[in-house]
Amino acid sequence: MTLTKKLESRPAPNSWGLAAGDNPWEYAPAPEATDHIRIEPEYGLFIGNQFAPSKPRKTFSVINPATEERLAKVAHASKADVNRAVGAAREAHRSAWSKLPGRERAKYLYRIARIMQERSREFAVVESMNSGKPIKESRDVDVPLAAAHFFYYAGWADKLEYAFPNRDPRSLGVAAQVIPWNFPLLMLAWKIAPALAAGNTVVLKPASTTPLTAYLFADVVRQADLPPGVVNIITGPGEIGMELVTHPDVSKVAFTGSTVVGKMIARALAGSGKKVTLELGGKAANIVFDDAPLDQAIEGIVNGIYFNQGEVCCAGSRLFVQESVHEALIEKLKARLGTLRVGDPLDKNTDVGAINSAGQLAKVQELVESGIAEGAEIFQPDCELPTRGFFFRPTLFTGVSMSHRIAQEEIFGPVLSVLTFRTPDEAIEKANNTPYGLSAGVWTEKGSRIFKMVNAMRAGVVWANTFNRFDPTSPFGGYKESGYGREGGIHGLGAYLDLSGNGTNHR
Ligand code: NDP
Repeated sequence: MTLTKKLESRPAPNSWGLAAGDNPWEYAPAPEATDHIRIEPEYGLFIGNQFAPSKPRKTFSVINPATEERLAKVAHASKADVNRAVGAAREAHRSAWSKLPGRERAKYLYRIARIMQERSREFAVVESMNSGKPIKESRDVDVPLAAAHFFYYAGWADKLEYAFPNRDPRSLGVAAQVIPWNFPLLMLAWKIAPALAAGNTVVLKPASTTPLTAYLFADVVRQADLPPGVVNIITGPGEIGMELVTHPDVSKVAFTGSTVVGKMIARALAGSGKKVTLELGGKAANIVFDDAPLDQAIEGIVNGIYFNQGEVCCAGSRLFVQESVHEALIEKLKARLGTLRVGDPLDKNTDVGAINSAGQLAKVQELVESGIAEGAEIFQPDCELPTRGFFFRPTLFTGVSMSHRIAQEEIFGPVLSVLTFRTPDEAIEKANNTPYGLSAGVWTEKGSRIFKMVNAMRAGVVWANTFNRFDPTSPFGGYKESGYGREGGIHGLGAYLDLSGNGTNHR
């Protein structure tokens, strides 16, 4: 299914005499092999190290967004299943995991990390088939970073006293973790690694469209011989996520997803005493000053918004360009867009894969149409899209004003809105004029300007002369409607510990 129509207006030829879309070098297909992976026809819930059907037995289908073909059926958890999973996690915490010395927990985490590395090809292929992201991203970013989180937090497991001196760090109990579909395995690692290192047990609910690498991870849990009940994975719709986070035996909730659902969870948990971290939406400003190295900035802009089809909470979706370099930058950007290869996520040359679902594609399409209706000028390269699957061309809007919906709302797709500014203060004013505050980027050769901008920007992460860089040692999280709490680094560890010194959160 292709919902996009060709809306392109072709740019003037660039300095090599090429217009966007003119591609003198066609790449031969380079598909990643799939014969080394095994996707089961049906997955049960993973509770107490066993896969078992939901009770009552009910399933739903998971599809490949690039082909619209069914990959597997997965269990649709019931309220009773949530209860069973939380019960298994609570018992594992009481009888096994909280009693293990940190150095023993660390051994399990190292083991998980090493198995993930050993099985990295398998993880990368399943991730790309299920989410639609290009194999070069799942292979080079998602899977290595996920393993790196387990290595990193394994290192902390026996050093909690040093991380939080004089605060008597204790595990909280059962952590309920609800994650989205844009980085299914990486979000799992962000959540499970610090929770286990801190001595908690977990029940994780992946997004309904992307549970397959979570179930592959369940296999790794068994291979690593974790005590039963330490990691439990259940699948089901949003209501099941709500059942899970509000369960009375859950002590800690970690959610990544939309601001709408984040607010619902915050309301439901107010006054419950549970520790909560929310990592929600974003509308990041990527700011290019006239002294920036433009070619380097172009790569950062492309990486900022077209990486993972723009389905990234910290995507650089609002580009602010200093007026004096606007024309030159847009010309270069259009030429660069013409070289992006859109298509089969399993092809190693693909830059932009499939949008995760028909629903998300419809949302992107609707917002793009609003941009046209509100008077912004659209550019899309003249590339062919596959005839099946949920694909959308990399899109660029110029002539955008701050009041346009495409400058205000999170699109979560490969769509860039370009705005201009004259002075640093104007850039700061415009960049901060959003309900979100997750990330931002600054491109300039002046160190002093970087410091000024970084300090003035209301965003949890600010990149300078780069974009979308992640590291397990570095905290990540938002201001304002982008959520609260931090994941990653020592901050992410603290979110899974009772640091009150008197064990009051301990259940
Ligand atoms: P959601 O916030 O609905 O989904 C994220 C996770 O929360 C999924 O596991 C989902 O389950 C679960 N969930 C849904 N409803 C509830 C609920 N009431 N209580 C508890 N858990 C719930 O995001 P969408 O998938 O609907 O995406 C909508 C928009 O959200 C996107 O277009 C994008 O703008 C934004 N988004 C932001 C993300 C981020 O990383 N900040 C990630 C994903 C989306 P299920 O999959 O079963 O519905």
